[in-house]
Amino acid sequence: MKTIGILGGMSWESTLEYYRLLNQGVREALGGQHSARIALYSVDFAQIEQLQHEGNWEATAEILARAAQGVEAAGADFLLIATNTMHKIADQVQAQVGIPLLHIADATADSLRRHGIGKVGLLGTRFTMEQDFYRERLRQQGVEVLVPDEGERELVHRVIYTELCQGRANPDSKARYLEIIAGLAGRGAEGVILGCTEISLLVQQPDTPVPLFDTTAIHTDRAVAYALD
Ligand code: GLU
Repeated sequence: MKTIGILGGMSWESTLEYYRLLNQGVREALGGQHSARIALYSVDFAQIEQLQHEGNWEATAEILARAAQGVEAAGADFLLIATNTMHKIADQVQAQVGIPLLHIADATADSLRRHGIGKVGLLGTRFTMEQDFYRERLRQQGVEVLVPDEGERELVHRVIYTELCQGRANPDSKARYLEIIAGLAGRGAEGVILGCTEISLLVQQPDTPVPLFDTTAIHTDRAVAYALD
């Protein structure tokens, strides 16, 4: 079994899910007392979040590249960045280590393809919904991406940082998210990507008839398969 390197803490609320899902996946595959081999580097999210909002992505890349070198030195065979947003600097991180990075958008595009989805809604931080690093990567893999309108994007972003990353699941926010998901489906989305690793703490598949693609579950499934390959 390969050792899974994780850059986590962005936020730790979703890193807990990564830890749980990776271990659960290995137990399901191998049985008994088997669990995932993991080297985790967990950052202080306050620093990362501040740099993101200042637009200082170079500084975040330096922090995460050093962290990635740390998990590589600790024995990781491959790397996960346990957040969609920080894939903005995935290439810079990859360039500083000798182990492969499993990109969350590639795993998601594969899952969409397997489900025959060509047009999809995307929820995430403003960075993920509005910038090219994520949407363009999906488009290049044949997926058409719809995002919520400006006011909705603001709400989705705000709820991620001020509620979900701080461990709060607010029923009013959940209702708004479900309306936004329904709106994307009304515009032709055949499914919706939960493109922020905390959203599944608020909204799950039983809450809506619209097919959901939870990037936390997709990324960890891919990692378990790769670790056991
Ligand atoms: N975990 C979130 C994501 O998947 C947002 C937190 C962050 O900015 O990294 O994008």
